Amino acid sequence: MAQSFTAVVIEEQDGKARAELKQLTLADLPDHEVLVEVEFSTLNYKDGLAVSGNRNKVVRKLPLVAGVDLAGRVVESRSPAWKPGDRVVVNGFGLSETEYGGYSRFARVKPEWLLRLPEAFTTKQAMAIGTAGYTAALCVDALVNFGVSKDSGQVLVTGAAGGVGSVAVALLTAAGFSVVASTGRPETHEYLKKLGARSFVDRAKLADKGRPLQKELYAAAIDVVGGVTLANVLAQTNYGGAVAACGLAESADLPATVLPHILRSVALLGVDSVMAPMANREKAWQRLARDLPAQALSEITRVEPMSQIVKLGESILANQVRGRIIIDVSK
Ligand code: NDP
Repeated sequence: MAQSFTAVVIEEQDGKARAELKQLTLADLPDHEVLVEVEFSTLNYKDGLAVSGNRNKVVRKLPLVAGVDLAGRVVESRSPAWKPGDRVVVNGFGLSETEYGGYSRFARVKPEWLLRLPEAFTTKQAMAIGTAGYTAALCVDALVNFGVSKDSGQVLVTGAAGGVGSVAVALLTAAGFSVVASTGRPETHEYLKKLGARSFVDRAKLADKGRPLQKELYAAAIDVVGGVTLANVLAQTNYGGAVAACGLAESADLPATVLPHILRSVALLGVDSVMAPMANREKAWQRLARDLPAQALSEITRVEPMSQIVKLGESILANQVRGRIIIDVSK
């Protein structure tokens, strides 16, 4: 095993949080029961916030290894649940918030955070999915559990060209839904069409404050944007429909009224990935293994070295990332 290895550490310097590539040893890692050799991590919006000066204070304990996700193989385990060689994934559970994360060649984690990687995926593909893709699957599950079916009508996806949005478009399409993609980047239309989007709404059309009840257009929606956009999406959802909301790319505010809820029985379904129960995670990953075409996954993804993490973090915050970025932690 490597004597020392590289990790991205967020630490305070002159009163400012900075991301630095540092050499760590196994003795630097927390004393959790399972040691994982990380093969790949990924770049989520929240990772962008963490490595770009810890914006929104997403990292709550400094210094800390960044990286919300990891995929790799178990090397050592003091837990009977896991043995060396097991292929595993961790999404969230406080990684890069209060626990050492996945931007590191090795990670020690709690056994209950680990999910067995479905046979269908390599560790690289698992990180092409990452928290963003797994959250998209949680959102689709939330709509389906609510009772939305492919016969209910069109489903809108906001922030469609981003990580959660891209995977949501592909998963909804695979499940037979007719998908309308909202994006601010017309140059991504071809890409989104390949993932299955049937039509498009310019995100500017959802950006201005509208009436609390508007023309009913969608049976359901997956929203990653929040703010005025989410208020408009709720106002355009059909009677009895549902909106799964997981993000705040526009804003954490929700300047809306109760009218869609009390006059049209529209449901707002909140989706959290970080502390989602293991049963929900397993279901979401089963959906991804069953429904996400390998072609769509490679369409969505590109691989970048961990040494470029600060630059990559700035690009995701500047809305310059299409789809998903895998982070190669060995480079
Ligand atoms: P990305 O940056 O990959 O995608 C976000 C997309 O939102 C962008 O691509 C863009 O889509 C759109 N967008 C960005 N800024 C604005 C704006 N000001 N107004 C309207 N649309 C905008 O991020 P992710 O897909 O990884 O994450 C999306 C959101 O979901 C984030 O807020 C993230 O924190 C949240 N999230 C929440 C999770 C949870 O557990 N609840 C888990 C994972 C993510 P386009 O270019 O198509 O217009």
